[in-house]
Amino acid sequence: MTIPMTELEIDDVAFLTGADGNGHDGSDGKHQSSTSCAGLICPNSSAKSRHHHRHHRHSDGQSGAHSVLNWRKSNVLTMGLCSLLVITIIALIIAFFPFHNQCFTGHTLSHTGSYGPDADHRQHKPDSSGTGSRHQLSQSPLLSTTGELFPWTDIRLPAFVVPFSYELSMKPNMTTFYNTGSVSIWLTVTERTDFVVIHTKKLNITDITMTSADDMDVPVIRRLECTQHEQLFIGFDGLLVPNRNYSLRLTFERQLEEQLEGFYVSSYVDTRTGVRKYLLTTHFEPTSARSAFPCFDEPALKASFSMKLVHERDFEAFFNSERVDRVPYNKEGLIMSVFEPTVPMSTYLVAFIVCDFNIHAKQTREGINIRAIVPDEQDSQSNYALNSAASILSYYQEFFNITYPLSKLDLVAVPDFGGGAMENWGLITFRTSVFLYNDNESNSETQEQVAIVVAHELAHMWFGNLVTMNWWDDLWLNEGFASYIENLGVNYIHPEWKMMEQFVVTTTQYAMAMDSLQTSHPIRADVKNPTEIEAIFDMISYKKGASLIRMLDNFLGIDNLRIGLSAFLHKYQYKTAKTSDLWHSFSDASRIHGINVSAIMDTWVNQKGFPVITVRRIGNQLMLNQRRFLSSIPDSDNIDDPSDISPFGYKWIIPVTIITDRSPRESRLVWFNTSEMSIPFDAQHQWFKVNVNQSGFYRVNYESDQWLALTDLLNNHNYNRHVLSAIDRSNLLDDAFSFMRIGILDVNLTMSLSLYLRNGERDYIPWETALYHFGIMDMLMEQNPSLHRYICGLIEPLITIWGWKDQTTDPMLLRKLRALLLRAAVTYGDKQSIQVANRYFQSWMINGTKIPANLREVVYTTGVQYGDQREWMHCWHRYMNTSIPSEKKLLLLSMGATRNSWLLARYLNSSLDKNRVRPQDTVHVIQTVARNPMGRDMVWRFVRENWHQFIRMFGEGSFSLDMIITETTWHFLTRFELKQVQQFFESVTVGSGAQAYRQGIEKIRTNIYWKDHLEHLVINWLAKHTGDDVVL
Ligand SMILES: [Zn+2]
Repeated sequence: MTIPMTELEIDDVAFLTGADGNGHDGSDGKHQSSTSCAGLICPNSSAKSRHHHRHHRHSDGQSGAHSVLNWRKSNVLTMGLCSLLVITIIALIIAFFPFHNQCFTGHTLSHTGSYGPDADHRQHKPDSSGTGSRHQLSQSPLLSTTGELFPWTDIRLPAFVVPFSYELSMKPNMTTFYNTGSVSIWLTVTERTDFVVIHTKKLNITDITMTSADDMDVPVIRRLECTQHEQLFIGFDGLLVPNRNYSLRLTFERQLEEQLEGFYVSSYVDTRTGVRKYLLTTHFEPTSARSAFPCFDEPALKASFSMKLVHERDFEAFFNSERVDRVPYNKEGLIMSVFEPTVPMSTYLVAFIVCDFNIHAKQTREGINIRAIVPDEQDSQSNYALNSAASILSYYQEFFNITYPLSKLDLVAVPDFGGGAMENWGLITFRTSVFLYNDNESNSETQEQVAIVVAHELAHMWFGNLVTMNWWDDLWLNEGFASYIENLGVNYIHPEWKMMEQFVVTTTQYAMAMDSLQTSHPIRADVKNPTEIEAIFDMISYKKGASLIRMLDNFLGIDNLRIGLSAFLHKYQYKTAKTSDLWHSFSDASRIHGINVSAIMDTWVNQKGFPVITVRRIGNQLMLNQRRFLSSIPDSDNIDDPSDISPFGYKWIIPVTIITDRSPRESRLVWFNTSEMSIPFDAQHQWFKVNVNQSGFYRVNYESDQWLALTDLLNNHNYNRHVLSAIDRSNLLDDAFSFMRIGILDVNLTMSLSLYLRNGERDYIPWETALYHFGIMDMLMEQNPSLHRYICGLIEPLITIWGWKDQTTDPMLLRKLRALLLRAAVTYGDKQSIQVANRYFQSWMINGTKIPANLREVVYTTGVQYGDQREWMHCWHRYMNTSIPSEKKLLLLSMGATRNSWLLARYLNSSLDKNRVRPQDTVHVIQTVARNPMGRDMVWRFVRENWHQFIRMFGEGSFSLDMIITETTWHFLTRFELKQVQQFFESVTVGSGAQAYRQGIEKIRTNIYWKDHLEHLVINWLAKHTGDDVVL
């Protein structure tokens, strides 16, 4: 999946606001110990556990049976031996605890032992920070909807039931949106049982039957539903036995709703006719398949799915697999579309859609049919995504050396979509703004974003779909790899975009900003319930994951990486795998190099954070020291937080690379696996740089003379004759500014390093890094005019050279840099740039003069910021009426820039009206108003007033909650505001925003530290360098 806060948006936010981008939640830092019973309730204690069950296991033939029936038989015997009084007591007990007596009568439910803590995918491992599982022990008994105790207490399903195929049929009504359906699930059991547990959520289950393969009925005698665990317990009168197939058939119904997960209703208005049209679509990852049909909704329980979808004649139905038939269903004109069985796959990858969209098709050179499925009006905007997909799919087949296993791949633009895109196998769904690209109207960033998202989802066809993580704790295997491989895919179709160079600013530096907080989490996160699972779809899984793969790529070499990946995918295809399985594949591939990939990578994957290496030159030696890097000031109240303990004691096995003035092109690799190490080094070297091309996930701090030497190196070279690569220049800026903000690098050294930008930098990447950090400083210094003058001074020469021309013949990175610098010029108050932008806006508003695509963002924002109601209304009108998603998004983001507080309030209120702003975009309105210094207090009030509505709108597990928390709190600078934030979020449900809240608190504390201890030093430096007598 691509998560909704796309790179484009992140960059925007970072640049405009200086937010350090911790916009996403991670797993809970405060882990609770796991004491919950993995299985059926034992009478002695609902949570007392597996050992008890194991202790009571019988050695007879019944020992493997999960028997409700057995309990009854033996209980009769017990009762026969007892007095009437005892019988009465037992009867009372039975009435009160219907399933409790298994242990009591000795008919142990051995699965609770053998499939509890010991079984493979049932392990309740302590989490990697050594603080135990986050599986929360429920304080109250687990009840079913009838009020009875729910017999299965584990949030994971029993491991002894193995589904292998689903026959689905659905009949949604396109007028009432009422869906009726049925599913026959073929399954086997590995041990005898008289019950199964299956997932279901908000479905009205109307009938359940169970038959064996020889058509014998297995009567269902009990069904209990537990909404808390989203499970259905089905008890049988008879045993299911191993080595036999059974068919579990359930019929169900549900009112479909306009939401963003499960099987849901979406709509769009054709702007040519004004008619609203409806479609039905799905989004299941991670745990919403269960709300569309009852299923065994865990990624390891792969099965084949076939589908029959009944729909109206004017609509088409789409599914993961090819349609094999389209036949009349009844006299009323309904049609039934029949789809062939899929390859074995996880439930979260199932998708089906009923819509009236247009279809554009293209074949890859291997003959795979790729189709873009989009609303008629937006048809022509899908060409770029379609062509990119066809090329990248062929490239990946070659790269992985594994054929794409399906005969078709559909790409669908979904008008209402919570994420960025979703890799449903054979039927990928996209948010329209990252799928549709208009050659004349969309900017370079949109084009790049479409290519990246397409490449990301296609990478999942192998990483995620063919080989899937065994459980969600290894989500990073899916997302980290897709986020790395996407760059190779885009690089294949657009080598001139230099994706691997851009990687450091789009991914590595961003991940470091996140992961340097004390409230970060290890990349492998122990998760159990749906909210925790949702929460790990965060920047650590995606961006740190991808950064670690890049580090691995750098020390293994791309050929070994490719061989290892290919071996891994071959070995585990159609199955699931864990992180350790992947490392073994790489170790095999790189054996000749003697690199122990597991040992190295375990230190990066199983502990949070990353190191800072301090380098000192002593005679003919370089002394290296490593310790954990924290970008925040430790909370003195929380210094011994147990979640902060690392199994590796915050030491990493680090690939240290070095270049020097004597060999600037030849990187030396040294492995650093102790706290301190010295390496021989020629004392004559003038300069050296560690972490070449920022390929390692760590920071480097030098002594002052070395920082000065590197500053000289940058200042003494013209922009086109740099000795250090663009990535290295960007890396120095990123490390230095990150150190300066917490007072571990001198302000004078850091600010002086940035002086070279004025005449010495014309590359996009270092500028992106510099402006990102200036954005943070601008927030901390509350739009300090000296800082604004300083930044404008740095960018002025390039604005003069490149001006306001967006030439399509220019390289994409130059077009991006020009747009970036113009935005900075306007943000930091360059009068001339503001005038030009306003002229463009007025001419567009009054005469309809077209604005070049890459200039629109700055022009719209400036027009709104320096205009009033008329300018704002013009944008609003265009927003409501354009059919170009990229344009719609730009307009949405620009309207938050107004300085008219009445308009801001009105805008915020509109974000809660789904006919004006789609719920998927509500958070962007909040974001853009929060970026506006005039809107910050207003948005904070708005969020507090409407928090309960957000929880209702998005759900407790939504991405949106953490984005809202981050966006509205990052800029607070005072103890008063800190207290306000704490008081508010401690008093409400924060759901998956819990991590964002803790990060927010950590960031505000650090902001306060900056104000108290560092700001005056920067102000002094700026006074010296922006005064009349100072030459920039
Ligand atoms: Zn993904």
